Amino acid sequence: MSELRGVGIGLGVAQGVVVRMTEALPAPENSPSTVGADAERIRVRDAVSAVAAELTARGEAAGGSAQDVLEAQAMIAEDPTLQAEIDARIDAGSTAEWAVHDAFAGFKATLEAVGGYLGERAADLDDIAQRVLARLQGVDAPGVPDPGHPFVLVARDLAPADTALLDLGQVLALVTFDGGPTSHTAILAREKGIVAIVGAAEAASLATGQHVIVDAAAGVVTADPTDDEKERAAQRAAARESAVTLPPTAGALADGTPIALLANLGKPADAADAVARGAEGVGLFRTEFLFLSSAQAPTVAQQRESYRELLAAFPGKKVVVRMLDAGADKPLAFLNDAHEENPALGLRGLRALRASEDILREQLTALAEADAETDADLWVMAPMVATVEETEYFTALAREYGLKTAGVMVEVPASALLADRVLAHADFASIGTNDLTQYTMAADRLLGSVASFQDPWHPAVLRLVREVGAAGARLGKPVGICGEAAADPLLAIVLVGLGATSLSMAPSALADVRHSLSERTLDEARALAEAALAADDAAGARLAVLEAAASLPSHKKETTS
Ligand code: PEP
Ligand code: MG
Repeated sequence: MSELRGVGIGLGVAQGVVVRMTEALPAPENSPSTVGADAERIRVRDAVSAVAAELTARGEAAGGSAQDVLEAQAMIAEDPTLQAEIDARIDAGSTAEWAVHDAFAGFKATLEAVGGYLGERAADLDDIAQRVLARLQGVDAPGVPDPGHPFVLVARDLAPADTALLDLGQVLALVTFDGGPTSHTAILAREKGIVAIVGAAEAASLATGQHVIVDAAAGVVTADPTDDEKERAAQRAAARESAVTLPPTAGALADGTPIALLANLGKPADAADAVARGAEGVGLFRTEFLFLSSAQAPTVAQQRESYRELLAAFPGKKVVVRMLDAGADKPLAFLNDAHEENPALGLRGLRALRASEDILREQLTALAEADAETDADLWVMAPMVATVEETEYFTALAREYGLKTAGVMVEVPASALLADRVLAHADFASIGTNDLTQYTMAADRLLGSVASFQDPWHPAVLRLVREVGAAGARLGKPVGICGEAAADPLLAIVLVGLGATSLSMAPSALADVRHSLSERTLDEARALAEAALAADDAAGARLAVLEAAASLPSHKKETTS
């Protein structure tokens, strides 16, 4: 028996036999073609269209946001610029294999140099190139194996195409050696409710056929467990299964302190699932997701319809709608037209809206109209607010349109540090821990090479959260959290201890966070927050909280023990 550590996603536990992910194909040799350019071109065309068709079919099977990702990949595979690059290499005498390998690598380097959203897509190119190469060589594409029985998948990391399509009937759990808690794999695993541990470097030593227990709550993979350990893990899995399938209750700590558990949504169609999972409202509706592919600003009528549909799904409940957050990784053609060297530090969020105030006014008009037609409790907020003056500007404008609850997102350290003055002009604050971490740690949230800095557990980030929590408590104003951090069941307790009054997350995370909060009192949450704040770094903070929690009394309810 041996134990490996990583970062657990959620609170699940599962066990089974390891199957290793098929490893990547080696780079082909750069040897001259023996069949001639015409034949090589036909081979490439056939392989590319087969891969594009396969990706499209996988997308259709997966549906939802996975379909968008896979359709975008299919389009990249058939991109004419890329095809021209492949043809040029074939015309110069290369084999189809080398031409594909080299042209994709060149295209990837170009996208990485552009950065932002396109830079993020660069990682997907490796996966597409591997699929085309496998077709050319007549071998299985690297990817998720299909051994014909349920298994624990162990991989370096997963491509979006693979994660999106994991067969939940077969994949009992997922363990990766790479990737952190905000990686694409972790976000999709959380969305799909897969028991997962990411960044377990030593998992590279696990072999196909080994039995493992994957304990996401502890972040531990136990290899070759004893019969006793297997039995205990099975009991815990069964207990958790019955806990998460219980009818959802309102979020509350063990002492009864209510902590509203809200949903992060990107489109009104996702509201029904959030309601079914017990969301007590919406803590973040990302309006820009509705218009990412629009060249023109949406009309008031278009927007009103979307907002009306969203609000109608939550009668009597709080729904926090964020104004268009355009720029950096989410450029909107009609709001961000100038090239910026560092778009994350440029005209994004409220800054971009202010530069096109007519668009901001139209959005407020549409929201006010939808509000008048529905019974939800509509709150509006501005993204990327950095100053007191911006806060005054936005809240005054919202009130001009009759919107009664107007607040700001705290995503920039400046507004966290001046939270008392910011909150003096706003009805509430909502902390976006994804950007707040990016700006506190000076680590681009899209860049894998600095992913280790992008950890909301960092005490520097937690101190900023404490500033906002304390200001909210002094002024009697709500402070919500709507970044990925709120979906981490352990960190959620710490955030409450720092003063968060509500937590908003992907609906699939609600059950685990609800369960986690129900096990701690407010005093305990505060003590755990102190333990985290006293650490030197993110890993230390997490460990300190785990250790401090181990010595606290259990408040487990009968049904969830
Ligand atoms: C955040 O930054 O934490 C946030 C919730 O906003 P987004 O992830 O959409 O930038
Ligand atoms: Mg943000």
